[in-house]
Amino acid sequence: MTVHNKHQVWTNWSGALTCAPSAHIAAQSEEEICSAIKSAANNGRGPVRAPGTGHSFTPIVITDGTMINIDGHQGLVDADVSTSQARVKAGTKICDLGAPLLEAGLALANQGDINRQSIAGAISTGTHGTGLTLGSVSSQAAGLRIATADGGVISCSADENADVFNAGRVSLGTLGIITEFVLQCVPAYALRETGGRMAVADVFAQMDSLVKDNRHFEFFWFPFADDVLVKFLNTTDEPARPPRDGGGRMEQFAMVAACEISRFAPFMRGPLQRFLTNNAGARYMGADEFSQKAKVRHAYQAFPSDRDVRFNEMEFSVPLENGPDCAQELAEHMRKRGGNFIFPMEYRTIKGDDIWLSPFQGRDSVSISIHQYAKQDYRRLFDGAEAIFRNYGGRPHWGKLHTLTARELAPLYPHWDDFQEVRRRLDPKGLFLTPYLARLFGEDGS
Ligand SMILES: Cc1cc2nc3c(=O)[nH]c(=O)nc-3n(C[C@H](O)[C@H](O)[C@H](O)COP(=O)(O)OP(=O)(O)OC[C@H]3O[C@@H](n4cnc5c(N)ncnc54)[C@H](O)[C@@H]3O)c2cc1C
Repeated sequence: MTVHNKHQVWTNWSGALTCAPSAHIAAQSEEEICSAIKSAANNGRGPVRAPGTGHSFTPIVITDGTMINIDGHQGLVDADVSTSQARVKAGTKICDLGAPLLEAGLALANQGDINRQSIAGAISTGTHGTGLTLGSVSSQAAGLRIATADGGVISCSADENADVFNAGRVSLGTLGIITEFVLQCVPAYALRETGGRMAVADVFAQMDSLVKDNRHFEFFWFPFADDVLVKFLNTTDEPARPPRDGGGRMEQFAMVAACEISRFAPFMRGPLQRFLTNNAGARYMGADEFSQKAKVRHAYQAFPSDRDVRFNEMEFSVPLENGPDCAQELAEHMRKRGGNFIFPMEYRTIKGDDIWLSPFQGRDSVSISIHQYAKQDYRRLFDGAEAIFRNYGGRPHWGKLHTLTARELAPLYPHWDDFQEVRRRLDPKGLFLTPYLARLFGEDGS
């Protein structure tokens, strides 16, 4: 275990959030994680936070107390192909998980659109991909081990400490530090990617079949454009081909250029959004049209995209049936009152689950996210958007920007009080509660 008592600065991915914890502890094993928690508690050095890879936009990692880094505690512990379950150390990065799982004949059933996060960070916030028959990454956790405020470890699953399991899968690090997961995987599979441009009106007219007829469907919509960019991934028996060689680099370059131009010439945002759409691919004519060009890859190589241009993001999940109207009202807001922005909205579907603080708890959902270039103010775009999301019954992504606190959050989650009971029981003195989290959970006296 390595301890640094210097005020090293920690920064999140977008660069918008920084903090200088009074202690940084690097823990390489479950025992070291427990010792680090005890040391912070005994020395009055809370609040304690365990960062993943800092890809959250909300200040859920920020602390001036102790930061316990578990980067050195990673790897696949074992995998059982007969149950499709794998034990994984909590500091493992998703990008380091695909190859060893494939070697064991397994894969994650679904992933988000990047793979740089730690598995613990992703699961703790309800990170998800797209696909109506598939739950979030959190819903793929079948068991957890959590190092708690008293220095002990609690093991949980649907059959053991079920209340901790229901609370712990999406818990923002407020129950303790997760040290290990059992992941419910699926047999390894390959995915075939197709997509292109589709007219906005056609997408909304065909929404039901686009969502239901594809394992994974999503679209990106630059609101000033007449087309959206659709993307489909479906399983295939074709052999996986070598992954692409950074083909996304040109797109990323065009994105930065567009953001920089519009920053100084806001009137260009409409033409630039149309340009980015029209140059992003051919018109989509159906899966067969592109069969020759379709990319076929191992699933873990098919999910992630390049996301090198830094941005800040807001995302809410609304009931499935509200998705189309919400997206269209949002696009109208973005065009009329969103100010100067370039990034598209992203529209995905997620299967409902039973995790107490999951945005998808009890309902199949559509997630809609909007982004603002990191060098530009996001408030004008996001403030109006949040009001629209809330009107459609939206629940915020825990890792993405929103302004909700306990008063607004509690009515959105039927198991809010159950979660609070488990959190208070496991962390009675609030060792893991920062001022931000205290406000979020109504423990700040307001
Ligand atoms: C470019 C980009 C793309 C993204 N794409 C998607 C996407 O496709 N889908 C989606 O849903 N989200 C997406 N996100 C959001 C991201 O997946 C979440 O914010 C996720 O939580 C980040 O994981 P992380 O490892 O960086 O964790 P961090 O942001 O560092 O931490 C997140 C939370 O997890 C807690 N935590 C971390 N490790 C532990 C542990 N061992 N025990 C207990 N708590 C822990 C932290 O304390 C914190 O509360 C994206 C973000 C970015 C920047």
